[in-house]
Amino acid sequence: MRYVSTRGESPPIGFAEAVLAGLAPDGGLYVPETVPDLRAELEDWAGLDYRELAFEIMRRFCDVEPEALRALIDEACADFAIPEVVRTVPVGELHVLELFHGPTLAFKDIALQFLGRLFERLLARAGRDLNILAATSGDTGSAAIAGVRGRPGIRIFVLYPRGRISPLQERQMTTVLDANVHNLAVEGTFDDCQRMLKGLLRDTALKDRLRLGAVNSVNWARILAQIVYYVHAAFEVRRRTGRPRVRFAVPTGNFGDILAGWYAHRLGLPIARLVLATNDNDILARFFRTGRYASGPVARTLSPSMDIQAASNFERYLHARFGGDPAAVRAAMATFEREGALRVPPGPDGAVDPLFTAGTADTEATLAEIRRCVEDDGYCPDPHTAVGLAVARRRLDPDEPTIALATAHPAKFPEAVARATEAPPPRHPTLERLHGMPTRATAVPADIGAVRDYLEAHIPAEGAAAQGGCP
Ligand SMILES: *Cc1c(COP(=O)(O)O)cnc(C)c1O
Repeated sequence: MRYVSTRGESPPIGFAEAVLAGLAPDGGLYVPETVPDLRAELEDWAGLDYRELAFEIMRRFCDVEPEALRALIDEACADFAIPEVVRTVPVGELHVLELFHGPTLAFKDIALQFLGRLFERLLARAGRDLNILAATSGDTGSAAIAGVRGRPGIRIFVLYPRGRISPLQERQMTTVLDANVHNLAVEGTFDDCQRMLKGLLRDTALKDRLRLGAVNSVNWARILAQIVYYVHAAFEVRRRTGRPRVRFAVPTGNFGDILAGWYAHRLGLPIARLVLATNDNDILARFFRTGRYASGPVARTLSPSMDIQAASNFERYLHARFGGDPAAVRAAMATFEREGALRVPPGPDGAVDPLFTAGTADTEATLAEIRRCVEDDGYCPDPHTAVGLAVARRRLDPDEPTIALATAHPAKFPEAVARATEAPPPRHPTLERLHGMPTRATAVPADIGAVRDYLEAHIPAEGAAAQGGCP
């Protein structure tokens, strides 16, 4: 399988190169040159367990040797708290797909546990190392750290705003003491962290010399790993209900999770609707209602991992909408850069995209949904999951069961849950254990020069790294 850039100004490359590069040099995102039609195969896969299904789907998209791919998948699944990795549970009229049984209790573990091991293998094959930079306001940093901690050939440097992320999420990062993990507590805001990250990655000479890379959700391997649970859950709910066509409700920020569902649909999975749910940062919901993609100021909400006003993965969707025409993508993205908005003409039936239906849950609706689930169904969702549930509930169809994606364990967001209900805040042993554990972080000023100095001091010169491995 070859991968092309959505902007068409970088040459097509193979899977390994696309994964190691993340973003294409022309600023575009890598997409598979063709998406296979797996309708016939899918019927035979209905009885497969999660690992077998992951193997069948992923091998269509990557050139890793079959036995190595099986081993990667097995290892990526090993640190999940339930043997089946993911599961769906009936909650009232809905089916909740629990994706939060990984080491950091968020759905990002599913892709990042795989990506960390994949990086290790591809780097060993290429005889090089990689220094990952990440900026985080919460979930991404801890899941990325959990994916690469202790892995040879990889170091990770995570920038987070000191005192501005939840103490729980901070501890999930700073209690990791592996030598290849560097937590940088920035004296500034999340925007400062992101600005510095982008500035460092834009400096191509520095990027090449220090072998810098990123793990954000533009990496194709993350999308690929997420396709698997859509297929797995659709089969599970079909067995439970006898209905062949399902809906998926997905709480959305960067359009990464729901994009994997859209690829599952393109592979031939009978998905009747993708229900896109946002918090007050509703750029994507507005797009699917009006065809206009226009960013606004970022609002702080109870679901911070979805407080985003420019969804980086949206460009992959645009590329397909424009029939794979990279010139049209370049023009649209240039308009968005210049004017903060772009427009996609509706289809023949007047809808922006009949597969998608979109809605928003504000703070009140999110709290009401948590309360309702706890009181009526005895099930406590986290605030991100509650956004998806609230939007899904407005669009139920008796013929098409809805599978709502649960993206984090509620114990990660005890304050929001406590605001919604009188019940004691949810707990989880993984988080309880963090109390009293030793931590390590280095305070740095919000100054790109200071961060660069830190990197220079902690990344060995190229040859030394290749021979000695990490750290
Ligand atoms: C990252 C995240 C999301 C949003 O996922 P996208 O792929 O950015 O749409 C939703 N919920 C939780 C808990 C997350 O960590």
